[in-house]
Amino acid sequence: MSKMKTVTLFADWDPIPDFKLGSKDIDGKLTYLGSKVWRNPRMEIVEKDIPVPGPTEVLIEVRACGTCGSDVHMRQANDEGYIFYPGLTAFPVTLGHEFSGVVVEAGENAINKRTGEKYEVGEAVCAEEMIWCANCKPCADGYPNHCERLQEIGFSIDGAYAKYIKIDTRYLWSLEGLRKKYGEEKMWLLGSLVEPTSVAYNAVIERGGGIRPGEHVVILGGGPIGIASCAILRHSGANSVILSEPSASRREMALSMGATHTIDPMADDVAEAVLDITEGLGAKIILEATGLPSIVWTDIEKIIWEGKAVNTTVVVVARSDDKIPLTGEVLQVRRANVVGSQGHSGHGTFPNVISCMSSGMDVSKLVTKQISLDAVEENCLMLQTDRDEVKITVTNFN
Ligand SMILES: [Zn+2]
Ligand SMILES: [Zn+2]
Repeated sequence: MSKMKTVTLFADWDPIPDFKLGSKDIDGKLTYLGSKVWRNPRMEIVEKDIPVPGPTEVLIEVRACGTCGSDVHMRQANDEGYIFYPGLTAFPVTLGHEFSGVVVEAGENAINKRTGEKYEVGEAVCAEEMIWCANCKPCADGYPNHCERLQEIGFSIDGAYAKYIKIDTRYLWSLEGLRKKYGEEKMWLLGSLVEPTSVAYNAVIERGGGIRPGEHVVILGGGPIGIASCAILRHSGANSVILSEPSASRREMALSMGATHTIDPMADDVAEAVLDITEGLGAKIILEATGLPSIVWTDIEKIIWEGKAVNTTVVVVARSDDKIPLTGEVLQVRRANVVGSQGHSGHGTFPNVISCMSSGMDVSKLVTKQISLDAVEENCLMLQTDRDEVKITVTNFN
């Protein structure tokens, strides 16, 4: 039994006419601009060798791996056949980066940060998706999310749509704190949600500066990051957590996980509703999790301008190539900030998220469907148009 089943993405290296190979790109293999290079994406079930862990690595038997919007966009092609996903990619690669699993083998120097000892077989773990180098300038300065030599699990190196994955312990975090409270089955689901929840934590706590209990926050966009942000901010003691999201089922889900109020932006004036709910105060944090700057900034500016609260921080977590329409005067007069947020590593984010979960922050309802490896491709194709499912998670790896 030295082989395992994987879901591997293939695409053709066929750069658009004006594409220039970047300094870190590898011709025919790796690029930082996926959508300009890769054509005709397809997924195949491929048998690969079970990896052998090195001295500081562990071998993990994967128990749950969630599908991400980026998985959908790597499989989705435009009219010319180019993939939607714009970032770092090296194909063929096994996809899957939001996962949990159990340690089945550990290298000689594979140290468990929980115990300070070598990893024992049976430890429940999850891992960061960003393989930061620790040696470049941003890493050395303490900003691994901005690593200059980043590799990414399930994008440029083999991921967890597979029965096994090997990972260096540097990127690994124990889930044992969840076992007693939730039991095994839910622990694996929650463990697979630590990665996206850490993206939310990095946005609202690390970059947004968090809140003091009693303050008000606004979340624009009810995808997994938006909903997880609702849970984190409510757990932090926010008075009101106001989510704006067009999908009724997502609004309902957010209400069950920490949102105190929801707004349908298709039916209501978002800024008016926020000022109404907060009795004219506005918000301490506004999270931009829609990626639709031409639509949401009118409301953001109005909340800042008309709200009594000063020091509002707007956190941009959704990606978009479009320009942000914003009046500088509004930032000055209202002492407001706009910050960007990328990634999830460093500053204790992963262990803090696991700790929040262990003290009751249960975001497992984000998982709306469980599937097997064979069903990944059809579900990724379905997710191109379906907005009802939130997280579709692989829990069967045979
Ligand atoms: Zn993801
Ligand atoms: Zn680095």
